[in-house]
Amino acid sequence: MDQNRRTFAMQAVGLVAAVAAGIGTAGAAGHHSETQMSVDGWKLDTDTKFRCGTCRFWGGMRKITDDQKQVVAVSLGWCNNTASPMYRTLTPPDHEMTKPGVWTKWDALS
Ligand code: SF4
Repeated sequence: MDQNRRTFAMQAVGLVAAVAAGIGTAGAAGHHSETQMSVDGWKLDTDTKFRCGTCRFWGGMRKITDDQKQVVAVSLGWCNNTASPMYRTLTPPDHEMTKPGVWTKWDALS
């Protein structure tokens, strides 16, 4: 298996694991007011703070909806913030940043 195929396969495994974990979390915690996970991915309101999906340092696949109200993310992402305890770790978009002063709003969010 070449490097690209192996990387893709590993990301797919990670996504499946994350989706399974998300379903477990959602089932245990009930309704989430700031984030939603479905078969289409995770949805976060664009004004959500302290979550990877709205952080400028998060390296996952995401887009902003046409109405600019939500971020839709469909993968895990690397944390690229050297100040973060999660630096170089894959995190789901709804991962909460608890260390003060580390989360920074994604530049694409006005
Ligand atoms: S772990 Fe913290 S710094 Fe890293 S991407 Fe997520 S919110 Fe941003």
